[in-house]
Amino acid sequence: MQILVIGAGVVGLSVARQAALAGHEVIIAEKTSGIGNGVSSRNSEVIHGGMYYPTGSLRARHCPRGRHMMYEFCASHGVPHRKCGKLIVATEDAEVAKMEAILKQGQANGVEGFRMIDGAAARAMEPQVSCVAALHSPETGIVDSHSFMRALQGDLEDRGGVIAFNTKVERLIHTQAGWVVRYSGSESGELAVDAVVNSAGLGAQALARHTDDYPENRVPRLVLARGNYYGYAGRPVFSRLIYPAPRIDGGLGTHVTLDLAGRMRFGPDVEWIDKEDYNVNPERAKSFYASIRRYWPGLPDNSLQPDYAGIRPKLTGPGEPAADFIIEGPAQHGLPGLVQLFGIESPGLTSSLSIAEDVVSYLKS
Ligand SMILES: Cc1cc2nc3c(=O)[nH]c(=O)nc-3n(C[C@H](O)[C@H](O)[C@H](O)COP(=O)(O)OP(=O)(O)OC[C@H]3O[C@@H](n4cnc5c(N)ncnc54)[C@H](O)[C@@H]3O)c2cc1C
Repeated sequence: MQILVIGAGVVGLSVARQAALAGHEVIIAEKTSGIGNGVSSRNSEVIHGGMYYPTGSLRARHCPRGRHMMYEFCASHGVPHRKCGKLIVATEDAEVAKMEAILKQGQANGVEGFRMIDGAAARAMEPQVSCVAALHSPETGIVDSHSFMRALQGDLEDRGGVIAFNTKVERLIHTQAGWVVRYSGSESGELAVDAVVNSAGLGAQALARHTDDYPENRVPRLVLARGNYYGYAGRPVFSRLIYPAPRIDGGLGTHVTLDLAGRMRFGPDVEWIDKEDYNVNPERAKSFYASIRRYWPGLPDNSLQPDYAGIRPKLTGPGEPAADFIIEGPAQHGLPGLVQLFGIESPGLTSSLSIAEDVVSYLKS
């Protein structure tokens, strides 16, 4: 088949690579001038364990499976990564019940080595942390996400796949033979292909609305939740990722993330917004100090600087339960040769290789 994948984020690149490995002819259309310029360049770069997601959900399926695939891929392709481990910390007794629920869910999801430890054991691992108990996930890690995406692009191109940059897909027209794709950008025109994958991230709903014959009631709403990050100016004090017990809507709590050089940053928080805007408001620092000091009382004054922000393509809003990924192929929506992906927020990076396998298998049906 000739397959057009829309979007050169981590999911589109993974899908395109998988399709090329399966012997298909693959083109990616990407509206910007490079890979990973959307959600994929503005995240925590964490290879998640997969402990939070409800049994039977797509996130519970793809996160642990994708994590295994990702560690293997990183090792075989020389992608910088580190299995640094993570602590989820309870800072008061009232949070311990929440931790027990996460422990159970993590074990059900197959998160290896995931266990509860007491405050003293947590301090033996991370002397600066303050907590009454913690969950330790030794399998959680960090990755250089741009190297990961470049390696996916390399595999794709080795198999003859191509990326058309500065190419925005405007409309998908369903025909007897497959799909006609209308595009604009540095050039404009039409291309006929056998199958199409919509992995346009924040643009997925807009594109689904411009897909002929795709029912409007199957297009979920898009809710934007900005996650702001603050950099830490001093010497790093943690060597593992530290997460608070989740207590806010829409995120995992303001946590410590590390890059591969060991530098610490804090975030992302959750800020509901109406339109794409990546400015970090310095005023939000106040709430960061308060929430970080719950588990790191030693955080010095004036040590946080606004860093960057990412936007989660959510399907539900404030106060509503978190939504699962939506990945729909012909069996769900009835149109042959089309896969739609909506709401691929965290843990989409970790899940990308696993999602890709499913998407390519849907195109066979
Ligand atoms: C704050 C934050 C923190 C996160 N942290 C983590 C984490 O630590 N670990 C983890 O596993 N996941 C994390 N995630 C989730 C992860 O980053 C995403 O799930 C993943 O990057 C989504 O990739 P994607 O390819 O679907 O989307 P994108 O990377 O956004 O790619 C979509 C691409 O489509 C292009 N596009 C859009 N419309 C069109 C069009 N009409 N025509 C052509 N091209 C188009 C865009 O330019 C873009 O390049 C986080 C997300 C956020 C926001």
